[in-house]
Amino acid sequence: MLTQKSETAFNKAKDVIPGGVDSPVRAFKSVEGTPLFIEKGEGAYLVDVDGNRYIDFVQSWGPLIFGHGDKKIEDAVIDAVKQGLSFGAPTEVETKLASEICMMFDCMDKVRFVSSGTEAVMSAIRLARGFTGRDDIVKFEGCYHGHSDSLLVQAGSGAVTFGTPSSPGVPADLTKHTLLAKYNDLESVKKCFENSDDIACIIIEPIAGNMGLVPADEIFLEGLRTLCDKHGALLIYDEVMSGFRASLKGAQGLTAVIPDIVTFGKVIGGGMPVGAFGARREIMDKLSPDGPVYQAGTLSGNPIAMNAGLASLTKLKSIENLYSSLEAKAKRLTQGLKAAANSVGIPLQVDVRGSMFGFFFNANPVKNFDDALRSDTEMFARFHQMMLQEGVYLACSQFETGFISTEMSDEMIDKVIEVSQKVFKELS
Ligand SMILES: *Cc1c(COP(=O)(O)O)cnc(C)c1O
Repeated sequence: MLTQKSETAFNKAKDVIPGGVDSPVRAFKSVEGTPLFIEKGEGAYLVDVDGNRYIDFVQSWGPLIFGHGDKKIEDAVIDAVKQGLSFGAPTEVETKLASEICMMFDCMDKVRFVSSGTEAVMSAIRLARGFTGRDDIVKFEGCYHGHSDSLLVQAGSGAVTFGTPSSPGVPADLTKHTLLAKYNDLESVKKCFENSDDIACIIIEPIAGNMGLVPADEIFLEGLRTLCDKHGALLIYDEVMSGFRASLKGAQGLTAVIPDIVTFGKVIGGGMPVGAFGARREIMDKLSPDGPVYQAGTLSGNPIAMNAGLASLTKLKSIENLYSSLEAKAKRLTQGLKAAANSVGIPLQVDVRGSMFGFFFNANPVKNFDDALRSDTEMFARFHQMMLQEGVYLACSQFETGFISTEMSDEMIDKVIEVSQKVFKELS
């Protein structure tokens, strides 16, 4: 497989863009590779600048649940472009998308749109602090909530891979309000409440996707709900990744626990930059201009992005058994990978939630970040490289989640499993 053009492009990029990339995980550092520069996407496939084709399990890190170049979304975008790119004034499509979302979630009367997941979570935290009049927040080791200051403490994948759990440039004065707890460990959360009576909220990825795929136990989520109620704190679900991915309603479609604030991103924009956060009326009314909690954005609710999001959501709702079919494919893949690995004595932990899948090179079950860190990242790196050579584009870190798109057929997945059998054999 030739990747000369990608290498040249990467070298050029490095001269003018730090690390040659606009988001660190794209640099392939943790797998010691050179990132592929992409020419285009076609359904389930990516095509790089050298003309190589790969089946794409990254899907722009989650948004592209219908694969590349979905006709409905493409048409919605093109139609919207013809009306103008941005107005900085309200448009009706924002209300349409907001209504669609609020109708789906019992905990949500109102929603506000922003341009990224980072922004959505940052704003949700400010809202929780403004609403409760408290400063401290509880977050979990291994969960990632975007790169805003107070959340860049023991963040997931990117930060771990680069060995900088909290980044220089983030004042300790800000992160001192961020209390760290252990995922799936209620005792560690109770300790936070014992140490502080100023906790505004608990923020969690209810299905963690940024330390690899590690779903929270339902009983753990119930425990968080109870603790929040007892102490007057808010429960924030960061469903930027799991929303419209794990099920139509994300984690909320799979467990009965009801959060106070929910954040979205990724799938909600259908590939365009969109984030959102929503809650019940009483909370959302604290936001400016109705309330005192300030939040704004020049391109927020951008009409192109809103039209892409609406087309995406409409299509998601219209397909019967969509998530069970995606989940069946995800299970087919992970069970195939596990069997292939095990047959040559390589242990593999696998898990699936709807269209999300994860696998760890680990002999033991992974319930939290410490468990995840005990995985064999060197073997992952070699596996990643070899699969790439065979035309399989997986996320370039052990601590990421993979995604199934509607464009993937059972035959494609079986081919990937076949390829993996060869690769695992070489690795063993
Ligand atoms: C991706 C992600 C974010 C950050 O979203 P961006 O759009 O990259 O800013 C936040 N939270 C979770 C759970 C994510 O997966």
